[in-house]
Amino acid sequence: METITLGNSAIIGSRIGLGTWAIGGWMWGGTDEAQAIATIHSALARGITLIDTAPVYGFGTSESIVGKALQTAGRRQHAVIATKAGLEWSSGRPRRDSRPLRLRQELEDSLRRLQTDYIDLYQIHWPDPLVPIEEVATELLRMHRAGKIRAIGVSNFSPAQMEAFRAVAPLHTVQPPYNLFERGIDADVLPYASDKGLTVLAYGALCRGLLSGRITTDSKFAGDDLRQSDPKFADARLRSRYVSAVGALDALARERCGRGVLSLAVRWVLDRGPTIALWGARRSDQLEAIDGALGWQLDAQTMRDIDGILERELETPVGPEFMAPPQRAAA
Ligand code: NAP
Repeated sequence: METITLGNSAIIGSRIGLGTWAIGGWMWGGTDEAQAIATIHSALARGITLIDTAPVYGFGTSESIVGKALQTAGRRQHAVIATKAGLEWSSGRPRRDSRPLRLRQELEDSLRRLQTDYIDLYQIHWPDPLVPIEEVATELLRMHRAGKIRAIGVSNFSPAQMEAFRAVAPLHTVQPPYNLFERGIDADVLPYASDKGLTVLAYGALCRGLLSGRITTDSKFAGDDLRQSDPKFADARLRSRYVSAVGALDALARERCGRGVLSLAVRWVLDRGPTIALWGARRSDQLEAIDGALGWQLDAQTMRDIDGILERELETPVGPEFMAPPQRAAA
């Protein structure tokens, strides 16, 4: 496994992190606890140490499963637990809420579910426009000084929002969407993070499974699976464009690198900067492909050819904005 230090903290994490949103079930058509625990154990056995979760993933379910899996494996001290705060779901629909009182309660709830007395990386899930960033940063600084959290991160923040945060508290990581098809951060967040020494936890590295190469124009998604509302999957014309782009990338990956598109997609994220690729998996067999993404690098010509394919196949790419949760009603 390749590793990286989280910002200027003392924490070293694996460059492939296990994403556990799907393991929480909500918005992914349900979960199977035994299978989820086996997946986490399999990730640990493959050298993954960083596990990304959040209270909102299954409204506590993902964190509880991560806590149980680490406990049964006796691996808490070896793991880097990255969880989040700042979304509330009392109405059944998540809304942004980073008021300090809520953050303090969330931390205690997360520690209990994760069966631990410290969080390695604590991240604000989405910026809350109703709470000044300085107040949020002050609260996380308190938690850091109290030893309850070892490193501080934000997710879905712009460089200007991170600048405001860093004026008050140390910031070690940022977690934006980033994959071959969703490259918005190339213009701002990625250069900002590189310049300021922040580690980037790239979420959706497989573009919700599209870049695994297994999704076809006929694939169906069950229950509340978010891919039923993701325009890349839900719009038939768009889906066929994306599936065609995956085919072209797969052909390039096989001819140039001797691997399939999934390895290419994860390697691409790792070769773009100080990144960790979050790989969402809910079955152990989905992690078998990890080795194909490690121990090599994309050369400059292949990077250019990838850009050429994306420009040719996707004239107007669609972003991941559909996932953004709304803010609370102002008091
Ligand atoms: P992802 O990693 O792009 O895709 C995950 C899906 O890809 C899996 O659920 C699985 O779908 C499919 N997949 C994985 N390995 C596969 C394989 N070997 N073969 C075929 N299909 C495979 O998406 P993500 O889970 O949304 O993102 C990763 C993580 O990032 C999340 O789990 C979460 O920790 C984090 N995240 C954070 C935010 C944020 O706002 N901070 C937002 C989104 C995600 P099936 O099981 O259906 O086949």
